[in-house]
Amino acid sequence: MKLQIKDTFTKNLPADKILENSRRQVTEAVFSFANPKKTKAPKVLHVSQEMASELGISEEETKSEFFKKIVTGNEVYPNTKPFAMCYGGHQFGNWAGQLGDGRAINLFEVEHKQKNWKVQLKGAGETPYSRTADGLAVLRSSVREYLCSEAMYHLGIPTTRALSLSLSGDDVLRDVLYDGNPAYEKGAIVTRVATSFLRFGNYEIFAARKDIKNLKILVDYTIHHHFSHLGNPSKETYIQFFKEVSERTLAMIIHWQRVGFVHGVMNTDNMSVLGLTIDFGPYGWLEGFDFGWTPNTTDRQHKRYRYGNQPNIGLWNLYQLANALYPIIQEVAPLEAVLNQYKIDFEQQSLEMMKSKLGLYTSDENDTKLMQNLEDTLQLVETDMTIFFRSLSNFTDAESGFQLIKKSFYDFDTISDEVKSQWDSWFQKYAERLQIERLSSEERKEKMDTVNPKYVLRNYMSQLAIDAADKGDYSLIDELYQLLKKPYSEQPKYEKWFAKRPEWARNKVGCSMLSCSS
Ligand code: AMP
Ligand code: MG
Repeated sequence: MKLQIKDTFTKNLPADKILENSRRQVTEAVFSFANPKKTKAPKVLHVSQEMASELGISEEETKSEFFKKIVTGNEVYPNTKPFAMCYGGHQFGNWAGQLGDGRAINLFEVEHKQKNWKVQLKGAGETPYSRTADGLAVLRSSVREYLCSEAMYHLGIPTTRALSLSLSGDDVLRDVLYDGNPAYEKGAIVTRVATSFLRFGNYEIFAARKDIKNLKILVDYTIHHHFSHLGNPSKETYIQFFKEVSERTLAMIIHWQRVGFVHGVMNTDNMSVLGLTIDFGPYGWLEGFDFGWTPNTTDRQHKRYRYGNQPNIGLWNLYQLANALYPIIQEVAPLEAVLNQYKIDFEQQSLEMMKSKLGLYTSDENDTKLMQNLEDTLQLVETDMTIFFRSLSNFTDAESGFQLIKKSFYDFDTISDEVKSQWDSWFQKYAERLQIERLSSEERKEKMDTVNPKYVLRNYMSQLAIDAADKGDYSLIDELYQLLKKPYSEQPKYEKWFAKRPEWARNKVGCSMLSCSS
């Protein structure tokens, strides 16, 4: 396995001068060198061959002993120096100080097909940023991150990727529900890949420490390597940089809203400056359409990161980034203009996105009302988001509309006449609205099916794969991985995955309830 190794990050950015891998505050540095921990009995469970080929690694090579050692942290690739990044963050609305890569270790940069990728291990042992934790990850959360990041990619949503999923062979102690019942679980390691893992928190930490010199070094690096089209760093480019981060953040969140993805922990340390979906922790997928839903039990009381609040939180997080960038811009108005534009763009893009889910491409003054009416109706009784929108592409007339979406109701038999008549009246309006569209129903269906996925990684599906993997059966991981490579296509052999969450999963830990204990 011969990789085209680069070191733009470690070469151009200030390193922690202390080399000892001890937990501490790290100042005036973007990263600290730290080596992964050797593990007892490493075993590769799955490899994303799509990702491997992006890095210039052949299928044959992914089966080698060397590959296994590299992706489980048991060997360091020749002439590379692994490191962990320093960042801070606002967690659940409060400044949390230094966080950093507590259980992520960056291995190296690979250049392939004109792209520069950063490769990192998640769960490979402690770093100076591990605080009170162990730097490790367990199988359940690793399966979830592995499958979901690749699923997001195939849905066409900006995201960090995954190269491999492995068992470390070591046991890890976790208290899943934080109720004083810790138990040992299998340790696992995911190899993650992205063009950059920089987060809002990487900039915030320097601003919080009033280290403007290093803040500027990091922003200049970011622009030079990731936003080079903006030109040489200057006050104007810093503003343009912030504008583009804002636009990318919004674009990512609109995608999440479209497919019903709830990130679960939108703290500023989990916000990629490239607008990538990052850090798959207690995330979840909407089953019943519900703006108030969050998968994260840690957030159960305030539901700060609920589905319907993700666009607002994106904006709140951008305010924090604006504050962090202010010292190198020294002007409030242009930053405020960007934040105001986010609100305007959100309204417009959100409407466009919802219209595309309904197959509407022309404009009508009542479109906003039609959408609001739909969202209200969807929330009257538990209605499966994915099945509803996918079924809608077969719409022909208002009279048969309600029957068409029958499969999306969780309890069809108890639906009242009143609810049914609200659906009938919405379908009536939808049918009328379709009159002014120009596409044939076949063309409309084809387009709708490219934005309304047929298959998403429902929470119970991951849990089934996790339960089987825990017993040594990894076939379901592969089945879901294969299924989710084509989320918008009809795949008759996988029809059983186009189904509502089964009742047993409604209140099961891991299916509807997830904590940060991963
Ligand atoms: P998260 O909520 O997963 O984004 O994590 C927030 C912070 O806690 C990050 O700085 C992580 O690196 C750190 N962290 C989470 N789990 C662990 C762990 N098991 N060991 C060390 N640090 C961790
Ligand atoms: Mg995180």
